[in-house]
Amino acid sequence: MRYSQMLLPTLKENPSEAEVVSHRLLLRAGYIRKLTSGVYSYLPLGLATLRRVERIVREEMNRAGAQEVLLPVVQPADLWIESGRWVKYGPELLRFTDRHNRESCLGPTHEEVITDLVRMNVHSYRDLPLNLYQIQTKFRDEIRPRFGLMRGREFIMKDGYSFDEQEEGANLTYQKMYDAYHRIFSRCGLAFRAVEADTGTIGGSFSHEFMVLADTGEDTLAICRSGQAPTDGQTCGYAANMEKAAGRPPQMLASRPELLPLTKVETPGKRKVAAVTEFLGISAQELVKTMIFLADGKPVAVLLRGDHEAQDVKLKNLLGAVDVVLADDQQIFDATGVPSGYLGPVGLKIPVVADREIEVMTNFVIGGGEKNYHCRNANLERDFSVGKIGDIRQVTAEDHCPSCGGELEFTKGIEVGHIFKLGTSYSEALKATYLDSSGKEQFFVMGCYGIGVSRVVAAAIEQNHDQDGIIFPLPLAPFQVVILNLSPDDQGITGAAEELYSTLKNRGVDVLLDDRDERPGVKFKDADLIGIPFRVTVGKGFLRDATVEIRERRSGVVQTLHPEEALSWLLAQCEMMSVS
Ligand code: ATP
Ligand code: MG
Repeated sequence: MRYSQMLLPTLKENPSEAEVVSHRLLLRAGYIRKLTSGVYSYLPLGLATLRRVERIVREEMNRAGAQEVLLPVVQPADLWIESGRWVKYGPELLRFTDRHNRESCLGPTHEEVITDLVRMNVHSYRDLPLNLYQIQTKFRDEIRPRFGLMRGREFIMKDGYSFDEQEEGANLTYQKMYDAYHRIFSRCGLAFRAVEADTGTIGGSFSHEFMVLADTGEDTLAICRSGQAPTDGQTCGYAANMEKAAGRPPQMLASRPELLPLTKVETPGKRKVAAVTEFLGISAQELVKTMIFLADGKPVAVLLRGDHEAQDVKLKNLLGAVDVVLADDQQIFDATGVPSGYLGPVGLKIPVVADREIEVMTNFVIGGGEKNYHCRNANLERDFSVGKIGDIRQVTAEDHCPSCGGELEFTKGIEVGHIFKLGTSYSEALKATYLDSSGKEQFFVMGCYGIGVSRVVAAAIEQNHDQDGIIFPLPLAPFQVVILNLSPDDQGITGAAEELYSTLKNRGVDVLLDDRDERPGVKFKDADLIGIPFRVTVGKGFLRDATVEIRERRSGVVQTLHPEEALSWLLAQCEMMSVS
Protein backbone atom coordinates (compact mmCIF):
# COMPACT_ATOMS: atom_id res chain seq x y z
CA MET A 1 0.00 0.00 0.00
CA ARG A 2 1.15 3.54 -0.73
CA TYR A 3 1.02 5.90 2.21
CA SER A 4 0.11 8.77 -0.12
CA GLN A 5 -3.12 7.00 -1.05
CA MET A 6 -4.10 5.71 2.35
CA LEU A 7 -6.60 7.05 4.84
CA LEU A 8 -4.08 7.31 7.65
CA PRO A 9 -4.76 10.49 9.61
CA THR A 10 -2.06 10.61 12.32
CA LEU A 11 -2.29 13.25 15.04
CA LYS A 12 0.60 15.18 16.58
CA GLU A 13 -1.18 15.91 19.83
CA ASN A 14 -2.60 13.53 22.38
CA PRO A 15 -6.40 13.54 22.15
CA SER A 16 -7.67 14.87 25.46
CA GLU A 17 -10.48 12.33 25.83
CA ALA A 18 -8.10 9.36 25.85
CA GLU A 19 -7.10 8.19 29.33
CA VAL A 20 -5.15 5.04 28.53
CA VAL A 21 -2.24 4.53 26.21
CA SER A 22 -3.94 2.18 23.74
CA HIS A 23 -6.82 4.58 23.26
CA ARG A 24 -4.42 7.49 22.81
CA LEU A 25 -2.23 5.66 20.34
CA LEU A 26 -5.08 4.10 18.35
CA LEU A 27 -6.45 7.60 17.78
CA ARG A 28 -3.09 9.28 17.20
CA ALA A 29 -1.85 6.59 14.84
CA GLY A 30 -5.02 6.77 12.75
CA TYR A 31 -6.32 3.28 13.55
CA ILE A 32 -9.75 4.25 14.82
CA ARG A 33 -12.10 7.22 15.09
CA LYS A 34 -14.94 7.68 17.54
CA LEU A 35 -18.45 7.98 16.18
CA THR A 36 -20.23 8.27 19.52
CA SER A 37 -19.73 7.07 23.09
CA GLY A 38 -18.16 3.59 23.01
CA VAL A 39 -18.66 3.25 19.25
CA TYR A 40 -15.72 3.40 16.86
CA SER A 41 -14.97 3.23 13.15
CA TYR A 42 -11.98 1.13 12.13
CA LEU A 43 -9.78 2.89 9.61
CA PRO A 44 -7.62 0.82 7.23
CA LEU A 45 -4.83 0.25 9.76
CA GLY A 46 -7.28 -0.63 12.53
CA LEU A 47 -9.14 -3.04 10.29
CA ALA A 48 -5.92 -4.68 9.11
CA THR A 49 -4.89 -5.42 12.70
CA LEU A 50 -8.35 -6.64 13.57
CA ARG A 51 -8.21 -8.99 10.60
CA ARG A 52 -4.87 -10.38 11.80
CA VAL A 53 -6.38 -11.27 15.17
CA GLU A 54 -9.47 -12.72 13.48
CA ARG A 55 -7.39 -14.86 11.20
CA ILE A 56 -5.41 -16.42 14.04
CA VAL A 57 -8.63 -16.99 15.99
CA ARG A 58 -10.33 -18.59 12.97
CA GLU A 59 -7.44 -20.87 12.17
CA GLU A 60 -7.15 -22.14 15.72
CA MET A 61 -10.90 -22.56 16.22
CA ASN A 62 -11.14 -24.52 12.99
CA ARG A 63 -8.11 -26.56 13.93
CA ALA A 64 -9.82 -27.43 17.22
CA GLY A 65 -12.84 -28.73 15.32
CA ALA A 66 -15.20 -25.78 15.75
CA GLN A 67 -17.38 -24.63 12.82
CA GLU A 68 -17.96 -21.04 11.90
CA VAL A 69 -21.49 -19.62 11.68
CA LEU A 70 -22.82 -16.09 11.60
CA LEU A 71 -25.78 -15.34 13.84
CA PRO A 72 -28.07 -12.32 13.73
CA VAL A 73 -27.33 -9.15 15.65
CA VAL A 74 -31.02 -8.52 16.26
CA GLN A 75 -32.57 -10.97 18.67
CA PRO A 76 -36.26 -11.32 19.60
CA ALA A 77 -37.23 -10.65 23.23
CA ASP A 78 -39.14 -13.96 23.37
CA LEU A 79 -35.95 -16.00 23.50
CA TRP A 80 -34.56 -13.87 26.29
CA ILE A 81 -37.80 -14.14 28.21
CA GLU A 82 -37.54 -17.92 27.83
CA SER A 83 -34.05 -17.99 29.30
CA GLY A 84 -35.02 -15.59 32.05
CA ARG A 85 -32.40 -13.06 31.01
CA TRP A 86 -34.75 -10.42 29.58
CA VAL A 87 -35.07 -9.20 33.18
CA LYS A 88 -31.79 -10.48 34.62
CA TYR A 89 -29.42 -8.99 32.03
CA GLY A 90 -30.34 -5.48 33.11
CA PRO A 91 -29.65 -2.19 31.35
CA GLU A 92 -26.58 -3.44 29.43
CA LEU A 93 -29.07 -5.04 27.04
CA LEU A 94 -30.10 -2.52 24.40
CA ARG A 95 -33.79 -3.11 23.74
CA PHE A 96 -36.08 -1.63 21.14
CA THR A 97 -39.50 -2.03 19.62
CA ASP A 98 -40.09 -2.37 15.89
CA ARG A 99 -43.01 -1.01 13.80
CA HIS A 100 -45.12 -4.07 14.62
CA ASN A 101 -44.61 -3.48 18.31
CA ARG A 102 -42.34 -6.50 18.63
CA GLU A 103 -39.64 -6.20 21.26
CA SER A 104 -36.08 -7.05 20.34
CA CYS A 105 -32.55 -6.44 21.50
CA LEU A 106 -29.08 -6.09 20.02
CA GLY A 107 -27.08 -9.20 20.87
CA PRO A 108 -24.58 -8.71 23.71
CA THR A 109 -23.86 -12.46 23.55
CA HIS A 110 -25.58 -15.38 21.81
CA GLU A 111 -26.37 -18.22 24.21
CA GLU A 112 -30.11 -17.90 23.56
CA VAL A 113 -29.84 -17.73 19.77
CA ILE A 114 -27.42 -20.63 19.46
CA THR A 115 -29.37 -22.83 21.88
CA ASP A 116 -32.51 -22.12 19.86
CA LEU A 117 -30.71 -22.97 16.61
CA VAL A 118 -29.43 -26.24 18.02
CA ARG A 119 -32.69 -27.33 19.64
CA MET A 120 -34.44 -26.87 16.29
CA ASN A 121 -31.83 -28.70 14.21
CA VAL A 122 -29.91 -31.20 16.32
CA HIS A 123 -31.79 -34.14 17.72
CA SER A 124 -29.48 -37.12 18.12
CA TYR A 125 -26.38 -38.08 20.06
CA ARG A 126 -24.94 -38.99 16.67
CA ASP A 127 -24.69 -35.27 15.85
CA LEU A 128 -22.62 -34.57 18.97
CA PRO A 129 -20.26 -33.12 19.98
CA LEU A 130 -20.96 -29.89 18.17
CA ASN A 131 -18.91 -26.74 18.53
CA LEU A 132 -20.02 -23.55 16.75
CA TYR A 133 -18.45 -20.11 16.75
CA GLN A 134 -18.78 -16.75 15.08
CA ILE A 135 -16.85 -13.51 14.86
CA GLN A 136 -19.30 -10.68 15.05
CA THR A 137 -20.23 -7.26 16.36
CA LYS A 138 -21.74 -7.25 19.83
CA PHE A 139 -23.55 -4.44 21.55
CA ARG A 140 -23.54 -3.89 25.30
CA ASP A 141 -24.81 -0.64 26.72
CA GLU A 142 -21.91 -0.45 29.19
CA ILE A 143 -22.53 1.95 32.05
CA ARG A 144 -19.08 3.48 31.55
CA PRO A 145 -17.75 2.88 28.06
CA ARG A 146 -14.14 3.97 28.20
CA PHE A 147 -10.57 3.38 27.17
CA GLY A 148 -11.38 3.18 23.47
CA LEU A 149 -11.48 -0.39 22.19
CA MET A 150 -10.93 -1.73 25.67
CA ARG A 151 -14.49 -1.23 26.84
CA GLY A 152 -16.73 -0.18 24.00
CA ARG A 153 -20.47 -0.43 23.67
CA GLU A 154 -20.11 -1.88 20.19
CA PHE A 155 -17.20 -4.29 19.87
CA ILE A 156 -16.10 -7.38 18.03
CA MET A 157 -16.19 -10.71 19.74
CA LYS A 158 -15.48 -14.27 18.83
CA ASP A 159 -18.08 -16.25 20.65
CA GLY A 160 -18.26 -20.01 20.55
CA TYR A 161 -20.67 -22.51 22.04
CA SER A 162 -20.30 -26.24 22.46
CA PHE A 163 -22.90 -28.98 22.82
CA ASP A 164 -21.95 -32.32 24.25
CA GLU A 165 -23.42 -35.50 25.61
CA GLN A 166 -22.61 -35.91 29.30
CA GLU A 167 -20.15 -34.06 31.53
CA GLU A 168 -17.17 -36.01 30.30
CA GLY A 169 -17.55 -34.93 26.71
CA ALA A 170 -18.10 -31.33 27.80
CA ASN A 171 -14.93 -31.42 29.88
CA LEU A 172 -12.97 -32.70 26.93
CA THR A 173 -14.30 -29.91 24.72
CA TYR A 174 -13.47 -27.37 27.42
CA GLN A 175 -9.89 -28.65 27.50
CA LYS A 176 -9.67 -28.38 23.72
CA MET A 177 -10.80 -24.77 23.87
CA TYR A 178 -8.38 -24.07 26.71
CA ASP A 179 -5.55 -25.38 24.55
CA ALA A 180 -6.78 -23.51 21.47
CA TYR A 181 -6.85 -20.25 23.47
CA HIS A 182 -3.25 -20.85 24.54
CA ARG A 183 -2.27 -21.25 20.91
CA ILE A 184 -4.23 -18.17 19.86
CA PHE A 185 -2.66 -15.78 22.33
CA SER A 186 0.82 -17.27 21.85
CA ARG A 187 0.48 -16.82 18.11
CA CYS A 188 -0.60 -13.22 18.67
CA GLY A 189 2.80 -12.69 20.29
CA LEU A 190 1.33 -11.59 23.62
CA ALA A 191 2.45 -12.26 27.19
CA PHE A 192 -0.63 -13.72 28.81
CA ARG A 193 -1.82 -15.96 31.57
CA ALA A 194 -4.84 -18.21 31.98
CA VAL A 195 -6.39 -17.73 35.40
CA GLU A 196 -9.20 -19.37 37.31
CA ALA A 197 -12.22 -17.14 37.12
CA ASP A 198 -15.41 -16.56 39.01
CA THR A 199 -18.34 -18.54 37.67
CA GLY A 200 -20.89 -16.13 39.08
CA THR A 201 -24.31 -17.26 40.11
CA ILE A 202 -24.48 -20.08 37.55
CA GLY A 203 -22.23 -22.04 39.92
CA GLY A 204 -21.16 -25.63 39.85
CA SER A 205 -19.08 -25.18 36.74
CA PHE A 206 -15.60 -23.91 36.06
CA SER A 207 -14.17 -21.11 34.08
CA HIS A 208 -10.88 -19.55 33.00
CA GLU A 209 -10.06 -16.06 31.87
CA PHE A 210 -7.17 -15.33 29.56
CA MET A 211 -5.38 -12.23 30.69
CA VAL A 212 -2.92 -10.12 28.75
CA LEU A 213 -0.39 -8.98 31.32
CA ALA A 214 -0.21 -5.19 31.45
CA ASP A 215 0.14 -2.68 34.29
CA THR A 216 -2.91 -0.83 33.03
CA GLY A 217 -5.19 -3.89 33.30
CA GLU A 218 -8.46 -3.53 35.19
CA ASP A 219 -8.14 -6.99 36.73
CA THR A 220 -5.76 -8.13 39.45
CA LEU A 221 -4.35 -11.64 39.25
CA ALA A 222 -2.95 -13.71 42.09
CA ILE A 223 -0.20 -15.98 40.82
CA CYS A 224 1.72 -18.62 42.73
CA ARG A 225 5.42 -17.82 42.62
CA SER A 226 6.43 -21.44 42.50
CA GLY A 227 4.69 -21.61 39.13
CA GLN A 228 6.75 -18.74 37.77
CA ALA A 229 9.70 -20.73 36.62
CA PRO A 230 8.64 -24.13 35.33
CA THR A 231 12.31 -24.98 34.75
CA ASP A 232 13.02 -25.10 38.47
CA GLY A 233 11.13 -28.36 38.65
CA GLN A 234 8.15 -26.98 40.52
CA THR A 235 4.94 -27.23 38.68
CA CYS A 236 2.33 -25.38 40.69
CA GLY A 237 0.55 -23.27 38.10
CA TYR A 238 -2.01 -21.68 40.40
CA ALA A 239 -3.23 -18.38 39.04
CA ALA A 240 -6.60 -16.79 39.69
CA ASN A 241 -8.50 -13.59 39.25
CA MET A 242 -8.77 -11.70 42.55
CA GLU A 243 -12.51 -12.22 42.29
CA LYS A 244 -11.86 -15.90 42.77
CA ALA A 245 -8.38 -16.21 44.32
CA ALA A 246 -8.27 -17.84 47.73
CA GLY A 247 -5.53 -18.30 50.29
CA ARG A 248 -5.10 -21.49 52.27
CA PRO A 249 -8.09 -22.14 54.53
CA PRO A 250 -7.48 -20.92 58.08
CA GLN A 251 -6.29 -23.55 60.53
CA MET A 252 -7.89 -24.02 63.92
CA LEU A 253 -5.27 -23.94 66.68
CA ALA A 254 -4.75 -27.38 68.19
CA SER A 255 -5.34 -26.07 71.69
CA ARG A 256 -7.82 -23.26 71.66
CA PRO A 257 -7.15 -20.49 74.22
CA GLU A 258 -9.58 -20.18 77.09
CA LEU A 259 -12.58 -18.01 76.23
CA LEU A 260 -12.48 -14.86 78.36
CA PRO A 261 -15.55 -12.90 79.41
CA LEU A 262 -16.93 -10.36 76.98
CA THR A 263 -16.04 -6.90 78.31
CA LYS A 264 -17.21 -3.50 77.13
CA VAL A 265 -14.49 -0.86 76.92
CA GLU A 266 -14.71 2.84 76.24
CA THR A 267 -13.05 3.91 72.98
CA PRO A 268 -13.91 7.61 72.74
CA GLY A 269 -13.94 8.86 69.16
CA LYS A 270 -12.12 5.73 67.86
CA ARG A 271 -14.01 4.61 64.78
CA LYS A 272 -11.39 3.33 62.33
CA VAL A 273 -9.60 -0.01 62.72
CA ALA A 274 -6.21 1.73 63.02
CA ALA A 275 -7.43 4.10 65.74
CA VAL A 276 -9.15 1.37 67.77
CA THR A 277 -6.23 -1.05 67.62
CA GLU A 278 -3.75 1.64 68.57
CA PHE A 279 -5.91 2.79 71.44
CA LEU A 280 -6.39 -0.76 72.75
CA GLY A 281 -2.81 -1.82 72.05
CA ILE A 282 -3.78 -4.74 69.82
CA SER A 283 -3.08 -5.71 66.21
CA ALA A 284 -5.67 -5.57 63.45
CA GLN A 285 -5.60 -9.39 63.41
CA GLU A 286 -7.21 -9.36 66.83
CA LEU A 287 -10.20 -7.29 65.74
CA VAL A 288 -13.33 -8.17 63.78
CA LYS A 289 -14.92 -5.33 61.89
CA THR A 290 -18.61 -5.23 61.11
CA MET A 291 -19.43 -3.69 57.75
CA ILE A 292 -22.88 -3.05 56.36
CA PHE A 293 -23.55 -3.80 52.70
CA LEU A 294 -26.73 -3.41 50.74
CA ALA A 295 -27.32 -6.67 48.90
CA ASP A 296 -29.89 -6.00 46.17
CA GLY A 297 -30.96 -3.08 48.35
CA LYS A 298 -31.28 -5.03 51.64
CA PRO A 299 -28.82 -4.43 54.51
CA VAL A 300 -26.50 -7.26 55.54
CA ALA A 301 -23.77 -7.17 58.19
CA VAL A 302 -20.45 -8.58 57.00
CA LEU A 303 -17.76 -9.62 59.48
CA LEU A 304 -14.11 -9.51 58.50
CA ARG A 305 -10.81 -9.61 60.34
CA GLY A 306 -9.53 -6.07 60.92
CA ASP A 307 -6.74 -6.30 58.34
CA HIS A 308 -8.89 -7.90 55.62
CA GLU A 309 -11.02 -6.38 52.87
CA ALA A 310 -14.26 -7.69 51.44
CA GLN A 311 -14.23 -9.09 47.90
CA ASP A 312 -17.45 -7.96 46.24
CA VAL A 313 -17.81 -10.85 43.82
CA LYS A 314 -17.23 -13.49 46.51
CA LEU A 315 -19.69 -11.69 48.74
CA LYS A 316 -22.29 -11.59 45.95
CA ASN A 317 -21.87 -15.32 45.45
CA LEU A 318 -22.22 -16.11 49.16
CA LEU A 319 -25.36 -13.99 49.40
CA GLY A 320 -26.75 -15.04 46.01
CA ALA A 321 -27.13 -11.33 45.23
CA VAL A 322 -26.90 -9.61 41.87
CA ASP A 323 -25.53 -6.41 43.34
CA VAL A 324 -23.75 -5.48 46.57
CA VAL A 325 -22.69 -2.00 47.62
CA LEU A 326 -21.20 -0.65 50.82
CA ALA A 327 -23.78 1.26 52.85
CA ASP A 328 -23.15 4.90 53.73
CA ASP A 329 -23.25 6.24 57.30
CA GLN A 330 -26.94 7.12 57.14
CA GLN A 331 -27.89 3.72 55.72
CA ILE A 332 -25.83 2.04 58.46
CA PHE A 333 -27.63 4.00 61.13
CA ASP A 334 -31.04 3.34 59.59
CA ALA A 335 -30.37 -0.40 59.42
CA THR A 336 -28.84 -0.85 62.89
CA GLY A 337 -29.48 2.20 65.04
CA VAL A 338 -25.73 2.38 65.70
CA PRO A 339 -23.38 5.04 64.35
CA SER A 340 -20.76 3.72 61.93
CA GLY A 341 -17.46 2.88 63.59
CA TYR A 342 -18.99 1.28 66.69
CA LEU A 343 -21.03 -1.42 65.08
CA GLY A 344 -20.70 -4.99 66.33
CA PRO A 345 -22.43 -8.29 65.57
CA VAL A 346 -24.01 -8.75 69.01
CA GLY A 347 -27.75 -8.20 68.99
CA LEU A 348 -28.00 -7.17 65.33
CA LYS A 349 -31.47 -7.56 63.83
CA ILE A 350 -30.30 -7.85 60.22
CA PRO A 351 -28.70 -10.92 58.56
CA VAL A 352 -25.04 -11.40 59.48
CA VAL A 353 -22.44 -13.23 57.38
CA ALA A 354 -18.80 -13.80 58.19
CA ASP A 355 -15.54 -14.48 56.47
CA ARG A 356 -14.25 -17.97 57.25
CA GLU A 357 -11.21 -16.48 58.98
CA ILE A 358 -13.44 -15.45 61.90
CA GLU A 359 -14.10 -19.10 62.73
CA VAL A 360 -10.59 -19.65 64.05
CA MET A 361 -10.33 -16.43 66.06
CA THR A 362 -10.81 -16.23 69.83
CA ASN A 363 -11.14 -13.34 72.25
CA PHE A 364 -11.27 -10.66 69.58
CA VAL A 365 -12.39 -7.05 69.67
CA ILE A 366 -15.69 -6.02 68.09
CA GLY A 367 -17.70 -2.81 67.95
CA GLY A 368 -19.67 -2.20 71.17
CA GLY A 369 -23.00 -1.47 69.48
CA GLU A 370 -23.11 2.05 70.89
CA LYS A 371 -21.21 5.26 70.31
CA ASN A 372 -17.69 5.36 71.83
CA TYR A 373 -17.62 1.70 72.85
CA HIS A 374 -16.02 -1.55 71.72
CA CYS A 375 -15.98 -5.00 73.30
CA ARG A 376 -12.98 -7.18 74.09
CA ASN A 377 -12.98 -10.98 74.16
CA ALA A 378 -15.81 -11.56 71.73
CA ASN A 379 -16.26 -15.13 70.46
CA LEU A 380 -18.31 -16.54 67.63
CA GLU A 381 -21.22 -18.76 68.75
CA ARG A 382 -20.89 -17.81 72.42
CA ASP A 383 -21.63 -14.10 71.90
CA PHE A 384 -23.29 -13.98 68.50
CA SER A 385 -24.09 -16.23 65.59
CA VAL A 386 -23.95 -15.73 61.86
CA GLY A 387 -26.16 -16.88 58.99
CA LYS A 388 -23.50 -17.85 56.51
CA ILE A 389 -19.74 -18.30 56.63
CA GLY A 390 -17.51 -18.40 53.58
CA ASP A 391 -14.45 -17.02 51.86
CA ILE A 392 -15.50 -13.45 51.16
CA ARG A 393 -12.25 -11.54 51.42
CA GLN A 394 -9.49 -10.39 49.13
CA VAL A 395 -6.34 -12.46 49.26
CA THR A 396 -3.24 -10.57 50.35
CA ALA A 397 0.51 -10.97 49.99
CA GLU A 398 0.44 -12.72 53.37
CA ASP A 399 -1.72 -15.50 51.99
CA HIS A 400 -0.30 -18.72 50.63
CA CYS A 401 -1.12 -20.59 47.46
CA PRO A 402 -4.13 -22.84 48.14
CA SER A 403 -2.69 -25.62 46.05
CA CYS A 404 1.00 -25.72 47.08
CA GLY A 405 1.43 -23.30 49.97
CA GLY A 406 3.88 -21.16 47.98
CA GLU A 407 3.97 -17.39 48.02
CA LEU A 408 1.45 -15.44 46.00
CA GLU A 409 2.26 -12.43 43.91
CA PHE A 410 -0.05 -9.97 42.27
CA THR A 411 -0.06 -8.56 38.80
CA LYS A 412 -2.44 -6.67 36.54
CA GLY A 413 -4.15 -8.11 33.51
CA ILE A 414 -6.61 -7.33 30.74
CA GLU A 415 -9.28 -9.96 30.14
CA VAL A 416 -9.16 -10.87 26.46
CA GLY A 417 -10.81 -14.25 26.61
CA HIS A 418 -13.16 -16.16 28.82
CA ILE A 419 -14.08 -19.82 28.65
CA PHE A 420 -16.90 -21.19 30.65
CA LYS A 421 -18.47 -24.54 31.33
CA LEU A 422 -22.16 -23.80 31.30
CA GLY A 423 -23.54 -27.26 31.99
CA THR A 424 -27.26 -27.54 31.30
CA SER A 425 -28.44 -24.15 32.53
CA TYR A 426 -29.38 -22.85 29.08
CA SER A 427 -30.47 -26.14 27.58
CA GLU A 428 -32.83 -26.65 30.53
CA ALA A 429 -34.20 -23.11 30.37
CA LEU A 430 -34.82 -23.40 26.62
CA LYS A 431 -35.69 -27.10 26.71
CA ALA A 432 -32.98 -28.07 24.27
CA THR A 433 -32.66 -31.82 24.20
CA TYR A 434 -31.35 -34.71 22.12
CA LEU A 435 -31.99 -38.43 22.18
CA ASP A 436 -29.13 -40.45 23.65
CA SER A 437 -28.05 -43.88 22.38
CA SER A 438 -30.80 -45.58 24.42
CA GLY A 439 -33.44 -43.26 22.97
CA LYS A 440 -33.74 -41.21 26.15
CA GLU A 441 -34.21 -37.45 26.01
CA GLN A 442 -31.27 -35.54 27.52
CA PHE A 443 -30.30 -31.89 27.89
CA PHE A 444 -27.25 -30.75 25.95
CA VAL A 445 -24.23 -30.09 28.14
CA MET A 446 -22.94 -26.73 27.00
CA GLY A 447 -19.84 -24.56 27.16
CA CYS A 448 -19.20 -21.04 25.94
CA TYR A 449 -15.99 -19.43 24.81
CA GLY A 450 -15.44 -15.73 24.17
CA ILE A 451 -12.58 -13.64 22.86
CA GLY A 452 -12.73 -9.85 22.76
CA VAL A 453 -11.20 -9.57 19.29
CA SER A 454 -11.19 -5.76 19.27
CA ARG A 455 -10.02 -5.68 22.89
CA VAL A 456 -7.05 -7.86 21.90
CA VAL A 457 -5.88 -5.01 19.64
CA ALA A 458 -6.03 -2.54 22.54
CA ALA A 459 -4.44 -4.99 24.98
CA ALA A 460 -1.58 -5.66 22.57
CA ILE A 461 -0.83 -1.93 22.60
CA GLU A 462 -1.12 -1.61 26.37
CA GLN A 463 1.55 -4.29 26.56
CA ASN A 464 3.68 -3.12 23.64
CA HIS A 465 4.44 0.56 23.24
CA ASP A 466 7.00 3.23 24.07
CA GLN A 467 7.03 7.03 24.17
CA ASP A 468 7.15 7.15 20.36
CA GLY A 469 4.15 4.97 19.69
CA ILE A 470 2.87 1.46 19.15
CA ILE A 471 5.21 -1.55 18.95
CA PHE A 472 3.02 -4.22 17.44
CA PRO A 473 4.10 -7.84 17.75
CA LEU A 474 4.85 -8.97 14.21
CA PRO A 475 1.80 -11.27 13.92
CA LEU A 476 -0.60 -8.41 14.69
CA ALA A 477 1.02 -5.52 12.85
CA PRO A 478 -1.10 -4.13 9.98
CA PHE A 479 2.05 -4.05 7.87
CA GLN A 480 5.16 -6.03 8.59
CA VAL A 481 7.47 -3.59 6.81
CA VAL A 482 7.35 0.13 6.14
CA ILE A 483 9.67 1.54 3.49
CA LEU A 484 10.54 5.20 3.79
CA ASN A 485 11.44 6.89 0.54
CA LEU A 486 13.27 9.90 1.91
CA SER A 487 13.62 11.68 -1.46
CA PRO A 488 10.64 11.12 -3.72
CA ASP A 489 12.24 13.66 -6.10
CA ASP A 490 15.36 11.58 -6.56
CA GLN A 491 15.09 8.98 -9.29
CA GLY A 492 17.74 6.62 -7.94
CA ILE A 493 16.33 6.56 -4.42
CA THR A 494 12.76 6.29 -5.66
CA GLY A 495 13.69 3.48 -8.03
CA ALA A 496 15.33 1.48 -5.23
CA ALA A 497 12.42 2.07 -2.83
CA GLU A 498 9.87 1.07 -5.48
CA GLU A 499 11.76 -2.06 -6.39
CA LEU A 500 12.07 -3.19 -2.80
CA TYR A 501 8.37 -2.43 -2.34
CA SER A 502 7.17 -4.45 -5.31
CA THR A 503 9.49 -7.37 -4.60
CA LEU A 504 8.39 -7.64 -0.98
CA LYS A 505 4.76 -7.35 -2.03
CA ASN A 506 5.16 -10.07 -4.63
CA ARG A 507 6.71 -12.30 -2.01
CA GLY A 508 3.60 -11.97 0.16
CA VAL A 509 4.90 -9.45 2.68
CA ASP A 510 2.48 -6.74 3.80
CA VAL A 511 4.41 -3.60 3.11
CA LEU A 512 3.65 0.10 3.32
CA LEU A 513 5.62 2.50 1.12
CA ASP A 514 5.89 6.00 2.53
CA ASP A 515 6.03 7.87 -0.76
CA ARG A 516 4.62 11.11 0.62
CA ASP A 517 6.10 14.45 -0.14
CA GLU A 518 7.01 15.03 3.51
CA ARG A 519 10.14 15.83 5.48
CA PRO A 520 12.15 12.78 6.65
CA GLY A 521 11.45 13.73 10.29
CA VAL A 522 7.72 13.43 9.72
CA LYS A 523 8.14 10.04 8.08
CA PHE A 524 10.31 8.69 10.89
CA LYS A 525 7.85 9.90 13.52
CA ASP A 526 4.83 8.43 11.77
CA ALA A 527 6.56 5.10 11.18
CA ASP A 528 7.34 4.85 14.89
CA LEU A 529 3.85 5.96 15.88
CA ILE A 530 1.98 3.38 13.79
CA GLY A 531 4.19 0.62 15.12
CA ILE A 532 5.34 -1.31 12.05
CA PRO A 533 7.96 -3.88 13.18
CA PHE A 534 10.55 -3.26 10.42
CA ARG A 535 11.39 0.09 8.90
CA VAL A 536 13.50 0.32 5.78
CA THR A 537 14.94 3.73 4.95
CA VAL A 538 16.05 4.49 1.44
CA GLY A 539 17.90 7.80 1.40
CA LYS A 540 21.32 9.32 0.91
CA GLY A 541 23.07 6.09 1.82
CA PHE A 542 21.73 4.59 -1.35
CA LEU A 543 23.38 7.28 -3.46
CA ARG A 544 26.60 7.04 -1.46
CA ASP A 545 27.21 3.27 -1.38
CA ALA A 546 24.01 1.62 -2.56
CA THR A 547 22.81 0.74 0.96
CA VAL A 548 19.53 0.97 2.78
CA GLU A 549 18.92 0.97 6.51
CA ILE A 550 16.72 -1.47 8.39
CA ARG A 551 15.58 -0.59 11.88
CA GLU A 552 13.67 -2.87 14.19
CA ARG A 553 10.91 -0.96 15.93
CA ARG A 554 11.14 -2.88 19.20
CA SER A 555 14.90 -3.04 19.78
CA GLY A 556 15.92 0.02 17.79
CA VAL A 557 18.71 -2.10 16.28
CA VAL A 558 19.86 -0.67 12.95
CA GLN A 559 21.55 -2.55 10.11
CA THR A 560 22.95 -1.03 6.95
CA LEU A 561 22.64 -3.45 4.04
CA HIS A 562 22.51 -3.62 0.29
CA PRO A 563 18.92 -3.84 -0.95
CA GLU A 564 19.17 -7.53 -1.89
CA GLU A 565 20.57 -8.39 1.55
CA ALA A 566 17.84 -6.31 3.15
CA LEU A 567 15.30 -8.21 1.09
CA SER A 568 16.43 -11.65 2.15
CA TRP A 569 16.76 -10.60 5.80
CA LEU A 570 13.22 -9.21 5.80
CA LEU A 571 11.82 -12.26 4.01
CA ALA A 572 13.42 -14.51 6.59
CA GLN A 573 11.88 -12.52 9.46
CA CYS A 574 8.41 -12.56 7.94
CA GLU A 575 8.70 -16.22 6.99
CA MET A 576 9.51 -17.09 10.58
CA MET A 577 6.24 -15.51 11.55
CA SER A 578 4.14 -17.40 9.06
CA VAL A 579 5.38 -20.78 10.31
CA SER A 580 5.10 -19.97 14.03
P1 ATP B 1 -15.78 -7.56 31.44
O1 ATP B 1 -15.68 -8.18 32.81
O2 ATP B 1 -14.51 -6.96 30.97
O3 ATP B 1 -16.98 -6.68 31.28
P2 ATP B 1 -17.27 -9.79 30.52
O4 ATP B 1 -17.05 -10.80 31.58
O5 ATP B 1 -18.52 -9.02 30.51
O6 ATP B 1 -16.02 -8.80 30.47
P3 ATP B 1 -17.65 -11.81 28.49
O7 ATP B 1 -19.12 -11.73 28.56
O8 ATP B 1 -16.97 -13.00 29.02
O9 ATP B 1 -17.02 -10.48 29.13
O10 ATP B 1 -17.20 -11.52 26.97
C1 ATP B 1 -16.13 -12.20 26.33
C2 ATP B 1 -14.99 -11.26 26.01
O11 ATP B 1 -15.44 -10.10 25.30
C3 ATP B 1 -14.29 -10.70 27.23
O12 ATP B 1 -13.32 -11.60 27.66
C4 ATP B 1 -13.67 -9.43 26.68
O13 ATP B 1 -12.41 -9.71 26.08
C5 ATP B 1 -14.64 -8.99 25.61
N1 ATP B 1 -15.48 -7.87 26.06
C6 ATP B 1 -16.48 -7.90 26.95
N2 ATP B 1 -17.06 -6.69 27.09
C7 ATP B 1 -16.38 -5.86 26.25
C8 ATP B 1 -16.50 -4.48 25.92
N3 ATP B 1 -17.43 -3.72 26.50
N4 ATP B 1 -15.66 -3.96 25.00
C9 ATP B 1 -14.72 -4.74 24.41
N5 ATP B 1 -14.56 -6.04 24.68
C10 ATP B 1 -15.38 -6.61 25.59
MG1 MG C 1 -18.95 -7.09 31.06
